[in-house]
Amino acid sequence: MEGFWRRKTLKILAVLTCVYTLFMFLMQMQLHSQQGNVDFLTEDQDHVNNFISPKPDTCYQGPTVSFDSRQTADFPLQASNSGTTEICSIPQNTADVEMEALWHTLDVSYPLALSVSGWLDVIRVHMWTTKPLKVIIVPHSHQDPGWLYTFEEYFASYANRTLSLITDQLTRNSAWRFVWSEVCWLERWWENASQKQKNDMKRLITNGQFEILSGGWVMPDEAVVHYSAMLNQLIDGHQWLLTNIGTVPNISWSVDPFGHSPTMAYLQRRSGIKAMVIQRIHFGIKRFLAKNQMLEFQWTQMWDRDSSTGIMTHVLPFLSYAISYSCGPDSHVCCKFDFSHKKCYQGGKRIPSLEIDDSNVKELAWLLWEQFQKKAELFRENVLLVPHGDDFRYSNLKEWEQQFGNLQKLIAYINSNPEMNTEVRFGTLSDFFEELGKSQTSPPPSFMGDFFPYSDRRDQYWTGFYTTRPLLKYAARRIQSLLRSVEILYAVSLAKTRKASEQYKTLLKLQPDLSSGRQELALFQHHDAITGTSRLYVTRNYKNRLMIGTPL
Ligand SMILES: [Zn+2]
Repeated sequence: MEGFWRRKTLKILAVLTCVYTLFMFLMQMQLHSQQGNVDFLTEDQDHVNNFISPKPDTCYQGPTVSFDSRQTADFPLQASNSGTTEICSIPQNTADVEMEALWHTLDVSYPLALSVSGWLDVIRVHMWTTKPLKVIIVPHSHQDPGWLYTFEEYFASYANRTLSLITDQLTRNSAWRFVWSEVCWLERWWENASQKQKNDMKRLITNGQFEILSGGWVMPDEAVVHYSAMLNQLIDGHQWLLTNIGTVPNISWSVDPFGHSPTMAYLQRRSGIKAMVIQRIHFGIKRFLAKNQMLEFQWTQMWDRDSSTGIMTHVLPFLSYAISYSCGPDSHVCCKFDFSHKKCYQGGKRIPSLEIDDSNVKELAWLLWEQFQKKAELFRENVLLVPHGDDFRYSNLKEWEQQFGNLQKLIAYINSNPEMNTEVRFGTLSDFFEELGKSQTSPPPSFMGDFFPYSDRRDQYWTGFYTTRPLLKYAARRIQSLLRSVEILYAVSLAKTRKASEQYKTLLKLQPDLSSGRQELALFQHHDAITGTSRLYVTRNYKNRLMIGTPL
């Protein structure tokens, strides 16, 4: 009896071994066929080759060294006597500013008794010089798809009204411009918009009055998102724009994520974006870049030797993208030009919202012009970007009239005064980068590295969000992985099913569910969602949406 079971066990083991060997063989075959079939990446073939199988420039040939973990500067690597070896390093790109090296010497001190900008000591405002300037004022509204309130609450209170006002006001005023970034709001607004509103919006985008920036479903966080989720929200946003409006964005606008990633720069560049604007970088790095007039640079990838994936980048120089930190270095002056501000103080006294009229236009125009000149000290070119907006702005008609109406009077005064030698106009980011390109006489400096961690003052580092609400971060990764599997199975099933069959029709009916899952995951990449920086009840709302959109 015992012999019978032994023979039985041996037989089972032999069969299992055969199956395993066959399986491994088939896997190898599959891998080989995949490696030999990368036609879909033809355009990027050089980069694929560089990345997957680098052709090293330099190889070390000499005695084999032992990589002893105890090595320090005082205890260098010791060569062993076990023969010679060849160590080939992956060739790296070089840049004018390399973050890895800069961190060692970066001044991160935060001078006492300074304004929140934290680095104004470097601007020798008393030494500014007058120069001819082209100033592009870019009206914008930062609309978080969830933060203090939920996506739907914000839509009802702000985004819906703002998008309707954009269409209406830009149609009425041909000199006015506006920019927008999150596609999730456009999609939500489009559902209920009239045909006239849709036609108006298409026309405004085509004639350049209204510009869609980045084209992502959201303005994603760049620190804790997975790169494929980052890419998916970009694909969904671009696809929606192409299908419904017939446009693709040229410029990226990422001003609120807490630090910026070169991966995002790369993905944007590869998706057709030609230039980008970023904001939240360490105040010490801003100070360094400002001192050296390097706030505009070509952001290049470490592994990209010919810099073909570099992207022109503009860093907003002050604390935030709000109006108080946009016209120049003095926030107490710039806030006067926020014509529907909620708080603007000077010497502890609240300054009421101003109305520009004949009695004060001269004084205020010179004040604004002085801020432009001071800000221009930080840049090499005489083309100045002045964003004009803040969180959830331009959501009522009164604000449109206040901001545009008053700015128009100041613009008219400055443009008609030859003494100022300055040309100001409303514009989009494409207008700004076009002017910048025309004025550049030499290539911009190059930059390599990332902008993490972020600190905006003293030692207050934005690193808590890397680990805040870990279960939700985990859930997002898991859903992302499941969704990818479902997408692959769905695509294969669709390809294998005969068209016009019942099965095919059933599969097509499932597509909206798949899209909805993708969109909920895309929404969760927002810089106040996956980061955990929203209110608790908003976070719960994100969680519920994720779970309903992609049931596990
Ligand atoms: Zn935000």
